[in-house]
Amino acid sequence: MDDVIHNLAHIRRRMSEACKKAGRQTDEVKLMLAAKTVPADRLRVAIEQGETLLGQNKVQEGISMSAQLAGLPVEWHFIGHLQTNKIKDVLKWATCVQSVDRTELVQKLDQRLQFEGKSLDILVQVNTSYEESKFGVAPDQALSLVNEIRKYDTLKVKGLMTIGLFSDDQEAVRRCFRSLKNLSNQLKDAGLDAPVLSMGMSGDLEAAIEEGTTMIRVGTAIFGQRIYPDSYYWNENKV
Ligand SMILES: *Cc1c(COP(=O)(O)O)cnc(C)c1O
Repeated sequence: MDDVIHNLAHIRRRMSEACKKAGRQTDEVKLMLAAKTVPADRLRVAIEQGETLLGQNKVQEGISMSAQLAGLPVEWHFIGHLQTNKIKDVLKWATCVQSVDRTELVQKLDQRLQFEGKSLDILVQVNTSYEESKFGVAPDQALSLVNEIRKYDTLKVKGLMTIGLFSDDQEAVRRCFRSLKNLSNQLKDAGLDAPVLSMGMSGDLEAAIEEGTTMIRVGTAIFGQRIYPDSYYWNENKV
């Protein structure tokens, strides 16, 4: 468990150094723990270090992990691809869905939330890398999807989310982040208060911080390598 404490301290240091370099305050960037496949006792160690924000890609795993960590002061966000038949289960534990990317999902979320008499924070996931294999609305469709979502009282748009290009080409990765920041500026210009920018992971968090992220999502650099490649989580039902 010592490795979690050590890795976490290292990430916090990387974050503060990157913020300093970018001329930003450290508290402008939140750290989300990407919890997929991580055993609950390892998550508990991170929570004991003061972490409060957890992300999960899998609906069932979210149910069991949130139950195992019940009573601890944490908030869960859903960050995976959401199938409409799983909405009911995700609403049991997630306070924010970061991966809203299509009209059908918006309508079904609204229906269920109306039924439960609840509202939900959401982010719109944008496919800034234009990869066929990734989910997310195309950048040129993002603003119209946001405008559509604003018609629903049950859905509170807090901002945007993206998964940067998986590449050694730092400039190409940055272009993804910059494109999300651009869209965020356009929301602001349109008078919408939705400043959250969820972007940056273990390998590209410095670039994301320089490009304006407000929330990085980190798994591997804290908890170690996972058995499955990320494509297992990002491309389900896609070729
Ligand atoms: C797994 C995952 C992360 C974290 O990725 P790491 O490279 O392990 O830090 C971030 N965002 C999403 C959507 C993920 O699925």
